[in-house]
Parts: sequence; C-alpha cells; structure tokens
Amino acid sequence: MSGPAVKGRFAPSPTGRMHLGNVATALLSWLSVKSRGGEWLLRIEDLDPQRSRLEWSQWIEDDLSWLGLMWDEGGLADRGSAGPYSQSRRGDIYSQYLERLRTMGAVYPCCCRRRDILATQAPHQTDGRVVYSGRCRPEGAGHVVIDEKAFQGRSTRLFVGDAGIAFSDGLFGAQSVSLARECGDFILRRADGAWAYQLAVVVDDALMGVTEVARGYDLLLSAAQQIYLFGLLGYPAPAYYHLPLIGNEAGQRLCKRDPQADMSHLRERFTPDQLLGLIANMLGLAPTPDATTLERLLADFSWDKVPRAEMLRCPDLS
Ligand code: GLU
Repeated sequence: MSGPAVKGRFAPSPTGRMHLGNVATALLSWLSVKSRGGEWLLRIEDLDPQRSRLEWSQWIEDDLSWLGLMWDEGGLADRGSAGPYSQSRRGDIYSQYLERLRTMGAVYPCCCRRRDILATQAPHQTDGRVVYSGRCRPEGAGHVVIDEKAFQGRSTRLFVGDAGIAFSDGLFGAQSVSLARECGDFILRRADGAWAYQLAVVVDDALMGVTEVARGYDLLLSAAQQIYLFGLLGYPAPAYYHLPLIGNEAGQRLCKRDPQADMSHLRERFTPDQLLGLIANMLGLAPTPDATTLERLLADFSWDKVPRAEMLRCPDLS
C-alpha cells in the first residue's frame, strides 16, 4: 500500500466542544504535515458511548473548518479508503487484530475490575496511573495461547514482559520506558466488550498509514505502550511529537469545562485570524499575538520554535 510520505492525524474524542488546547494540537499537527507537503486526516475517537456524541463531532468539523484546518481524509463523511474513520464503527477490525495477538500468545483474560473501568479513556498521566499487579497473569504468559472461551466476560490484557521501549520524541527527545515498571500489562478490551484506547489507536494509526502523531504531553507514556503494540503487530511506529499542555493562571490544565477557552466563546470573541495569532504566539510560532493567517504560519513553520515545556500559559481570552 503506497501513500503520502508524510501523513499526520488529529484524533479528538467528541465529548464536548473543543477548547484552545485541542485547537493548538490540531494547528501544530496540521502545520507540521502541510509544511512538508503531507496529508492530514481526521479520526473521530468515539469509543466511549456514554460520553461521545455525534453533535460534538459535528462541532469539531465546524470549528476546524472555521479556522481553515481542512482534512484530506476521514471525518464524518468517511473520505478516503481506510475508513470508517469513527472508532465506534471499527469494532470488527479491532477484533481481527486482537485475535492475532491471542494466537501469538500475547494476551490473557483478566477478571480485575478497577482498571476495566478506566481502560477506554485515553489515559492521562496526571490521573495517577496504576501499575497492574499481574494478579491474573497465567504461568507462561507471552507464550501460551489461551482458548477464546476463557476471554468471555473477562477483560483482555496484553503481557508486556520486561520490554524496555526507547524512542525519540520530536520535542522532548530521548525517552526510555520500562513498561513493566511504569504501566504493567495493559487492557486491550474491557470485560463488557468495549475496546481500549491503546489497541484502537495503534490499529487505526497503522491501517490509516499515519507517519506522525502530534498530541498532548500527557500521552507520552502511552507512546511507549503503543510502540510495543506496533512492534507485536508488525507495523512501524509513527514519529511522535508530544505537545505542551495549555494551563490557566493557577497552572491547571485547560479542559472542556473552561468556558473562556471553549470554541463557542472564542468564535464570538475573535476572528479566525485573530485566534490563530494568539495561539501561534503562545506556541512560539509568531513573535506577537497579532492576527495572522495559516499561509503565513506555514511559510516559516519549524518545530524548533515550539517550547519544550510541559505546560504553556493560556493567553488572556477575556
Ligand atoms: N482521542 C484522544 C484525546 O482526544 C487523543 C488520542 C491520540 O491523539 O492518540 O485525548
């Protein structure tokens, strides 16, 4: 399968209106691929049926379009040949890959419940990650193929063994992670059948031909888990850029509940060019917060300008 040399993606969870942090991620990802003639795809990460709504996906598309951040592939219209592009409709595909891992002996059934509850959410380091104790890990894990029936009504956990993952993050440089120490065997499918973020994102990035991923700093550890899975499934891992989170004055991360940073407020208060100027200045891409255009930002985009910080201060949005 041949595709563009550079393909990036934006993979929002449609659980609310986007905020400034989401838009900053989308902008950096778009600029990175477009400055090198690449393609950009939009994937809807609506794995969590309780929190995801079609309406929010529609708003994501509307807000990206308002800013001029147009995607070449994906979205609700499923443009492209690697669809569907909404994770809620990709269960059959995830099943095939999970089955492949089962026949390799890489997974085992688990009846521990607490982690099951957390597993479909994109994990965020600040949430206080729990390292799995290995309570359900069978003798010979990693080698023994366990019968399909044993997984019924149980969650499916991936055996990580003593895998050490080394990779270079585009912003934060060399990383070295011991999966056993930092996360332990992790869940790929919950007991109720829901797919976990880690499996879905790897299968999707692989099948959609994604070559680079730009997303929040809080997912840095997830990159190690995902690189491990790419390796098991025989796909090359994409390049990763983990981006500074955007915080308020008190140093708390912006979230979908912050009304000032919400796109509905931002669109009332600013024009697209004004908002681009504010975000570009915050990200080190423009020397002043004056209005700017995507064309201007593209012309002199470089990752070297983006601060290597875990958090950047949100500009005044009042
Ligand atoms: N869907 C995740 C989120 O909105 C992002 C996952 C990713 O980029 O890998 O937080």
